[in-house]
Amino acid sequence: MHPTTLRTSVSVLLTVAISNLALVGCASTQHAGPAPASAPTGIAKGTALEELKSGNARFVQGTSTAHTWQSERVAKTGTFGQTPSVGVLSCADSRVPVEMVFDQGVGELFVVRVAGNSESNTAAGTFEYGVAALGVHTILVLGHTKCGAVDAAVAGKPLPGNMGSFTEVITPALKGKKFDNLTAAAEANVRWQSEQLLKRSEILRTAHEKGDLTMLRGIYDVETGVVRFID
Ligand SMILES: [Zn+2]
Repeated sequence: MHPTTLRTSVSVLLTVAISNLALVGCASTQHAGPAPASAPTGIAKGTALEELKSGNARFVQGTSTAHTWQSERVAKTGTFGQTPSVGVLSCADSRVPVEMVFDQGVGELFVVRVAGNSESNTAAGTFEYGVAALGVHTILVLGHTKCGAVDAAVAGKPLPGNMGSFTEVITPALKGKKFDNLTAAAEANVRWQSEQLLKRSEILRTAHEKGDLTMLRGIYDVETGVVRFID
C-alpha cells in the first residue's frame, strides 16, 4: 500500500473509532435516565469498596439480590448502553465468577479475566476504554487462593503450548521473594499486576494521579467465598 493511502486509512479508522467512543458515551449518559428502584445502576464514585464488600457479604450469606432485577437491567442496558463503574482484573478460574461474588448485575462490572489475573496491553487497553468512554472510576485486581497459574509460576517449570505466556508475566511478581504459602504468592502477584497496569498505561496512570481512578486489590477465598481486600 502507498504510504499516503496508508496514512489516509489510519486517519479514517481513528476518526471512526473516536466518533464511536463519543457515541457510546453519549448514549450512556444522555438516555440512561433514573434507575428503577428495583434495578439500581452504577456504584457511586468513592463507594466501590463499601459496595463490593456488602455485595460479597450477601453472596457469602446466601442473600444475593442481583438476580431479582437482571431482566430489567438487560432491557435497560440493551436499549440505552452500558455504564459500568468498576473494572475488575480477575483470574479465569471458574470458582471466581466475578458478578456473582459481588452480587452485581448486568452492566455493572467491566471485567477482564485471564489465568493469573495478569495485566497486558489488551487488559490495559480494555480498562482505558472503560475509564475514558464508559465511566469506570475504580479498578479492582482480584487474585484468589489455590490459583493454579500462580502455583505454576512458583514451580517455575516449562509449560506446553501457549500456557507459558501467563507464568511469564506472573514470574516477575515473585522474583527474589520467599512465600510461606500460595496465598502469599497470590497477594504479591495482585500487587505487582496492579502496579504494572498503571506503569503500562498513561491513561490509567493519569486518571489515578488526578484522583479520577481508584485502584483496589483483593484475594478471593475459593473455600469460603470471602473477598479479603489488601493494601
Ligand atoms: Zn487462578
